Amino acid sequence: MNLKGQTALITGAGRGIGKTIAAKFAKLGSDLAIVDMNPISNNVLREIEQNGTKCLSYQLDVTDVDEVDSVVKKIIDETGGIHILVNNAGITQDNLFMRMKPEQWLQVIDVNLNGVFHVTKAVIRTMVKQHSGRIVNISSVVGFSGNPGQVNYSSTKSGLIGFTKSLSREVGTRGITVNAVAPGFINTSMTQALNENQQQAILSQIPLGRMGEAEDIANAVAFLTSDEASYITGTVLHVNGGMY
Ligand code: NAP
Repeated sequence: MNLKGQTALITGAGRGIGKTIAAKFAKLGSDLAIVDMNPISNNVLREIEQNGTKCLSYQLDVTDVDEVDSVVKKIIDETGGIHILVNNAGITQDNLFMRMKPEQWLQVIDVNLNGVFHVTKAVIRTMVKQHSGRIVNISSVVGFSGNPGQVNYSSTKSGLIGFTKSLSREVGTRGITVNAVAPGFINTSMTQALNENQQQAILSQIPLGRMGEAEDIANAVAFLTSDEASYITGTVLHVNGGMY
């Protein structure tokens, strides 16, 4: 796989899966624009740039539509276009449904769904003009299986599948593919927040007997953005060790 000559925008790329996707893309030769809620550390930037790729970084809350428009415009002005968009930023606010507060519902919807709407809306025009583009949305196994305590989160992750499939039908003739990757349980701060019992319960459901690593997701995302995947759109790649 080779992503030379491409510019990729990755949201939530300061740590975890997003950071690992950025590092993978850099190894494959893509230039990068990475954005995150908090400023991206120099260490992360150095790690990415050691591959010789150009990397712009911006502090960006994906729920802020004006900021999204302004940052995407800056990136396009600077790079000439965006060829790949990875909608990775996501949060959890877990609680059993009976106890879930409206703010917990709304915040998760705002970041995980509205954020994807805002960023994709800001980027899609440039992809249409280019007659090419790759969009990958990061969903989750729990968007398919459901998970107690995650009615809000799993609703957004299922919602992303409808978004992916519908948008793929709208923009296919413009040379743009839209796919989703649905990770299982991946070793990041999101899952490190689970207690030992919860982690053991999850492990017992994974036929491959281990949690996934962020690299497992980065490899799948890279494939979907590569030329090798040019005839794949509107689909979901499950990367979950067989748990679903
Ligand atoms: P993570 O370690 O918690 O990282 C999430 C990233 O998103 C952070 O860099 C965070 O920024 C950023 N972010 C949060 N809210 C944002 C906002 N409003 N605007 C911009 N950036 C924002 O999580 P992860 O495990 O890498 O998850 C990445 C994606 O994979 C998420 O969509 C998640 O739902 C999905 N996923 C993860 C797993 C898993 O097991 N880890 C499984 C399935 C799906 P700050 O660092 O600045 O807070």
